[in-house]
Amino acid sequence: MHFSKQAYSNNRWLHSSKEYTVAAGYNWVRIHKSKVDWRFLCWNSLNLPKSSFIFWVFMHQRWSTRDRLARMGLVGDTSCPICLLDPKSHHHLVYDCVYARTCFRLLQDRLGFKFSLLHLVPWFSTGRRTKLQRIFIGSCCVALIYWIWRIRNKARVDNVVRRPEVVILQIIKDIKTRFMRRNSTILRSRDRAWLQLL
Ligand SMILES: [Zn+2]
Repeated sequence: MHFSKQAYSNNRWLHSSKEYTVAAGYNWVRIHKSKVDWRFLCWNSLNLPKSSFIFWVFMHQRWSTRDRLARMGLVGDTSCPICLLDPKSHHHLVYDCVYARTCFRLLQDRLGFKFSLLHLVPWFSTGRRTKLQRIFIGSCCVALIYWIWRIRNKARVDNVVRRPEVVILQIIKDIKTRFMRRNSTILRSRDRAWLQLL
């Protein structure tokens, strides 16, 4: 995966002295978004802008993970700040870390789906659920990846990790609130019943 256009490197803008922020990054990628197969998942209108942006950065393998920083000679310790076990890479943080796996299992149980996070992108396009449920579940998964990034940052600085149950409840509440605000009047009865059970 590579950028067709690159705006920043190691959290610094390449062509500007302005401070790099998530909001500024989000605006940049919205203008320059490319036609990758995960674009509908990334720019799904139920996603919070900050979740879309951190997901976009993740899909481009551009989080400042310790394995990347170690290769640049910037850090010596490469262990995951959440589980303290394996080397911290993009793949570990989202797919292998015991913390991420626990969060994802809770999300599966709560929303009643079985696909693995590795298969999120194809499932979002072709999964056997109503369109609304695919959009809702896809948005929760994107939000989970954002939360893993945020929790990794917090663990690195404060050595504090939020309980997975709390994170999953927060994600579902946020997406449900966002959805009901926009679409509650056009819900089909099947989807309405599903949402009420969450
Ligand atoms: Zn870990």
